[in-house]
Amino acid sequence: MPSKSSHEHHACVQSRNTTRQSSIQHRLANKSPCLPARMEGGGMTKEAQMTSLASEHDTQRALRRIQKLSLHLLQPSPFLDPESSGDKNWIVPSPCTGGRGRPLLSVSRAELVEYMKGRHREIQERIFNFFVSRPELQTPVEISTADHRVLCMRQLTALVREAGIRPFRYAIEDPSVYFAIVEAVGGIDISLGIKLGVQYSLWGGSVMNLGTKKHKEKYFKGIDNIDYPGCFAMTELHHGSNVQGLQTTATFDPLTDEFVINTPNDGAIKWWIGNAAVHGKFATVFARLILPFQGKGGKSIDMGVHAFIVPIRDMETHDTLPMVEIHDCGHKVGLNGVDNGALRFQSVRIPRDNLLNRFGDVSRDGTYTSSLPTINKRFAATLGELVGGRVGLAYSSVGVLKVSVTIAVRYSLLRQQFGPPKQPEISILDYQSQQHKLMPMLASTYAFHFATLYLIDKYSEMKKSHDEDIVGDVHALSAGLKAYVTSYTAKSISVCRESCGGHGYAAVNRFGVLRNDHDIFQTFEGDNTVLLQQVAGDLLKQYKSKFRGGTLTVTWNYLRESMASYTAQPNPVTARWQGEEHLRDPNFQLDAFRYRTSRLLQSLGLRLRKHTKTLGGFGAWNRCLNHLLTLAESHIESVILAKFIEAVQKCPDKNTGNVLKLLCDLYALDRIWNDIGTYRNVDYVAPNKAKAIHKLVDYLSFQVRGIAGELVDAFGLPEIVIRAPIGMSSEAYSQYTEYVGF
Ligand SMILES: Cc1cc2nc3c(=O)[nH]c(=O)nc-3n(C[C@H](O)[C@H](O)[C@H](O)COP(=O)(O)OP(=O)(O)OC[C@H]3O[C@@H](n4cnc5c(N)ncnc54)[C@H](O)[C@@H]3O)c2cc1C
Repeated sequence: MPSKSSHEHHACVQSRNTTRQSSIQHRLANKSPCLPARMEGGGMTKEAQMTSLASEHDTQRALRRIQKLSLHLLQPSPFLDPESSGDKNWIVPSPCTGGRGRPLLSVSRAELVEYMKGRHREIQERIFNFFVSRPELQTPVEISTADHRVLCMRQLTALVREAGIRPFRYAIEDPSVYFAIVEAVGGIDISLGIKLGVQYSLWGGSVMNLGTKKHKEKYFKGIDNIDYPGCFAMTELHHGSNVQGLQTTATFDPLTDEFVINTPNDGAIKWWIGNAAVHGKFATVFARLILPFQGKGGKSIDMGVHAFIVPIRDMETHDTLPMVEIHDCGHKVGLNGVDNGALRFQSVRIPRDNLLNRFGDVSRDGTYTSSLPTINKRFAATLGELVGGRVGLAYSSVGVLKVSVTIAVRYSLLRQQFGPPKQPEISILDYQSQQHKLMPMLASTYAFHFATLYLIDKYSEMKKSHDEDIVGDVHALSAGLKAYVTSYTAKSISVCRESCGGHGYAAVNRFGVLRNDHDIFQTFEGDNTVLLQQVAGDLLKQYKSKFRGGTLTVTWNYLRESMASYTAQPNPVTARWQGEEHLRDPNFQLDAFRYRTSRLLQSLGLRLRKHTKTLGGFGAWNRCLNHLLTLAESHIESVILAKFIEAVQKCPDKNTGNVLKLLCDLYALDRIWNDIGTYRNVDYVAPNKAKAIHKLVDYLSFQVRGIAGELVDAFGLPEIVIRAPIGMSSEAYSQYTEYVGF
């Protein structure tokens, strides 16, 4: 055969590496690897040469793997307990960890997996299997923005039309299944999870929840089967968080029985609108409803922000409709599978029927009617219907955290660096610092798992009952959990990347894409800082209502019993108790969390009252803003802990309950330790107790380390979700070396 030029050779090697990389990606998805692209050899046919080369290559690879495996078998890990080295559950600590002896707990794998398994695992497995069977629908590590958008739309339509998964139906009939679908597709590609959310939660949700029967009948089918891809156009260039400041107008024209949608200035251009740049055919546009000639002296009246269905592209040709201008928001830091665009309307006319009129309507003669008396009440009711997006984000964020923690923990168990003199190297998870980074995070992931499941149950209950107390509870809880969990996950992904060293930086190992795609979870569906203020505001409202003799909604109930005792001076005797039994008592832990919240609430009430006299309501709020945010986080942490304790107590298997109790204790004590300054300042915790809490956090982290592998396995994430070669449950290095071409 003629020899190749170096350019050809380089191209060939590149192509071979690319082929291998994609072959490994396919293999990760249980597909057989492709053949290498280079061909050499004597008189054989090309096909025969390829087959022979491939089998030789496969044989060598298989031999290498057998060699590696046999090495593992011949050199058992120095951390295996000599007495029970066959039992994977008994991994003893390295000498560096302080020699406290082996972990006290073993994990009943099957029971733990069963307890952690969501109620809707079956539909999630259908989704995973569908994507495993369709490698061409899997998102590659490298992909351009344009290709990613096309692929993301193909993934969504294939899921709905080929796999027969109909998220929209569940969103209406059984939200808990809908959220399970969102979590699973987010595991395939976070962009896909968001694209699905835009179509069904935002566009579809606005039509179903803000519209009435006529809208449901007209749009349900098209939204469900994606014949009507749509957008949710709320944010404007000048206004994001402050939705009441929106400037787009919808003016009623009684002559033609139409609304005229207009962008009055560039600040009112709709911005960041998902599905707008490429795929959307409709948009739910949030605009101020203007009724001409109905005010004093024949002036117009502004009825506040309402939602309208506005067609933006032709149903047949997909051309942008006249007087609608659409531009692409361009390449983003992450989520590039979603096409975000900007929209300007120049007196676009839509029929009166396109007003989503559940909370306010305009009759043929231009009369406005609503069951709600004020603009503020209507606005609150409108936004209140959109909390489903927040619930989905909180839940999906836990899904991202699980992936990230799983990769970091598995790799940390595998990776060995340094060790005692003349002894084998130790696993990096045996370093106390690595345990400190990852074990409280692992415990928090479990805590958030139970808390967000509770949120989903409450949300489903709210959708069924429309009970006012539950509505109030879900609003505050979804805002708080969304803000708290997404901020925690965003920070944790960076910690996970760092804890995997240089290999954490390889794109194939996922932390980059997880971090970039997830980062915006902190901002959209309500900026986290703004959401936490809503939680604090709600808490203050409940506090005031308590003093007026009113009732408290479910989540705040603890304040009812405890406010008086929590605002008294702490008990100087219990402040010194430092025994392990006491520190691990859920009553002590909950009491500590609630004490902190109650103190923060009471002192905030006093401060706000004081500052309002001189600064007015807005100024006083701003003066106390950091206090407000701390209060909201403290309350959310209390709810998370309460739900975790409940999950431990409800666990039917004793051994699994003990494992969860260990995690719950670590979650609680780590949080107390993080805020130890506050507890010390008010003498809730004496110095000796603070020291004991710190020591116990380290010890519990060490114990969790002993079962960390089993704990991440129990998340039940399949390979198609993990994908990172360093995060595979076995042979991580082999998949990694193979990926780069060895
Ligand atoms: C990728 C992406 C997709 C999106 N998709 C959509 C979509 O489909 N439809 C849609 O309508 N919108 C969408 N958005 C917009 C998104 O909802 C807004 O970005 C979000 O609501 C925040 O608004 P903002 O960007 O104007 O931030 P701002 O409100 O300007 O906030 C900027 C900063 O100011 C702080 N701040 C603001 N107000 C306060 C306050 N009262 N107290 C203290 N601090 C404050 C915030 O904490 C934040 O740090 C999307 C955005 C992105 C980036």
